[in-house]
Amino acid sequence: MNIPSEYVVEKDKKLSKDGKLILRANFTSKEEVEEWLQIYKSSTSTEWIIKDEPKDLKKLVFHKYWLCQLSKLNKSKNSKRDKGCKSRLDIKIKKINKDTVKNDRFFLKRETPLPAVITITQHNHKTKGCFETLKYLRVAKDT
Ligand SMILES: [Zn+2]
Repeated sequence: MNIPSEYVVEKDKKLSKDGKLILRANFTSKEEVEEWLQIYKSSTSTEWIIKDEPKDLKKLVFHKYWLCQLSKLNKSKNSKRDKGCKSRLDIKIKKINKDTVKNDRFFLKRETPLPAVITITQHNHKTKGCFETLKYLRVAKDT
């Protein structure tokens, strides 16, 4: 298998809709997710608080989700950082096997499969650039 030297992230045009962006990426490990997340955070000027990391994974290699730092989570009442933002970032990595490929041919059956699914919902406040600024789509891996 060829190991790409960069992160490839592609918009899932079929499933994305207004206020909900779905991206597919070639991450295969937790480390890659964390590294890409740093790039994503700096290119969008957003910060995220870990909400949960489900451990009972059957068809997945990895699953974790975050809430925007400007959410109500972990804030005292009247905190300046509580903007009540409901934006959520969800990243999962699918296993690649016969069953998953069958249902996800478009992204899994290619030379560089994109097993990671990134779901981002819209913020209720300004972020750097626009919601769909896709500067972070293709970035070199830090190897
Ligand atoms: Zn937000």
